[in-house]
Amino acid sequence: MDAKQIMQIFEDTAYVRMGGSMEELRAAEYLVSCCAAMGLEARIESFDVDMATIHDAKFLADGLEIPCKGYLCAGSGTVEAPFYYLRGTDPLSLSKCRGKIVMIDGYLGYWIYRDILENGALGFVTYDGHVNYTDRDIDQRELRAFVHKGDKIPGVNINAKDAVELIRRDVKTAKIVLKQHEYVGQSRNVILDLPGEVPEYITLTAHYDSTSLSYGAYDNMSGGAGLLGIADHFRMKSHRYGLRFIWCGSEERGLLGSKAYCAKEENLKNCVLNINLDMIGSVMGKFIACVSAEEKLCGYIEYLGAELDFPITAKQDVYSSDSTPFADKGVPSLSFARLAPPSTATIHNSYDTAALLRGEQMVADIDFISAFTARMACAKNIPVARKIPDAVKEKLDTYLNRKRAPK
Ligand SMILES: [Zn+2]
Repeated sequence: MDAKQIMQIFEDTAYVRMGGSMEELRAAEYLVSCCAAMGLEARIESFDVDMATIHDAKFLADGLEIPCKGYLCAGSGTVEAPFYYLRGTDPLSLSKCRGKIVMIDGYLGYWIYRDILENGALGFVTYDGHVNYTDRDIDQRELRAFVHKGDKIPGVNINAKDAVELIRRDVKTAKIVLKQHEYVGQSRNVILDLPGEVPEYITLTAHYDSTSLSYGAYDNMSGGAGLLGIADHFRMKSHRYGLRFIWCGSEERGLLGSKAYCAKEENLKNCVLNINLDMIGSVMGKFIACVSAEEKLCGYIEYLGAELDFPITAKQDVYSSDSTPFADKGVPSLSFARLAPPSTATIHNSYDTAALLRGEQMVADIDFISAFTARMACAKNIPVARKIPDAVKEKLDTYLNRKRAPK
């Protein structure tokens, strides 16, 4: 695929495609059609996801209505209580949550939700966007199943500009109204097999869903297009290990597609390596590999970069993407990404469009990943041991909220 063909993919998928939505299905069908155009037969595999339709969401601060979006899957109800801004997670700050509607900074992660629940919060407010942006966009958030674990309190998301204003005005009371219909829906992985000579295979993953305001060109149709480019590279070539391409659904909702795939033991029995792409081809920025496998693989990748005149830094770590469920099940995994400086490219908002990407850079990034994949897929013996080092296991424990990160 050349630069122009790749940029066409971003034009064709310039729409929001949240996990479980009809638009996500539309993108899945588009990927199947891209494979068909190359003479390859991909299939769609569905999995269950929690869904919700919001009927009403209101947030009032001292009686004044503030634009908001209700949290999906956070139950229905009305709460009226004193308003409290949780500035830090120290015990003193947390102790003041009791009986209040609590506004927090940043994402509603597992531990912060547990903390405010244990300290008696009745509802929550998060905010996103940026005080210096001209928009007043509000992202559609959800209370994820692995965060609430059955304990739900209602919450809303608001714009950062309004969040600042609440504190300036020293708001005392808040009210949240949330009404929604919750149900089980479907999200999908798109799977394409290029069989090798042996039953063992390498999985290549990239998520194709986006967040609520975003066309997700950089995050992560760039990885999705990357998989198409790699499939195109290999479709006429023989290789010893099989290649299984998985365009993952609902990654932005908590790696749900890769988790669904990895939940089936038979899916991993013959999987020797996972190569994940999450954000490549940006105009600006450096190329990295995040390796959840033996440290030795980092050296191998950097040597290969030197050999092919493709600068890359490889580090042993856990990447917040679809490689992680594989690593957690013992499959050596790595994620490739081109990380742009935040002043030149941001994600999870309406600014993540094809404008962040460059076709020629996409081609160069795909060429390198294809070269690495070829080394592994054509190896007499795949050199990466099928084990996860203890240092990585520890990081998986914190990333997957089994253990709390040290302060
Ligand atoms: Zn992503």
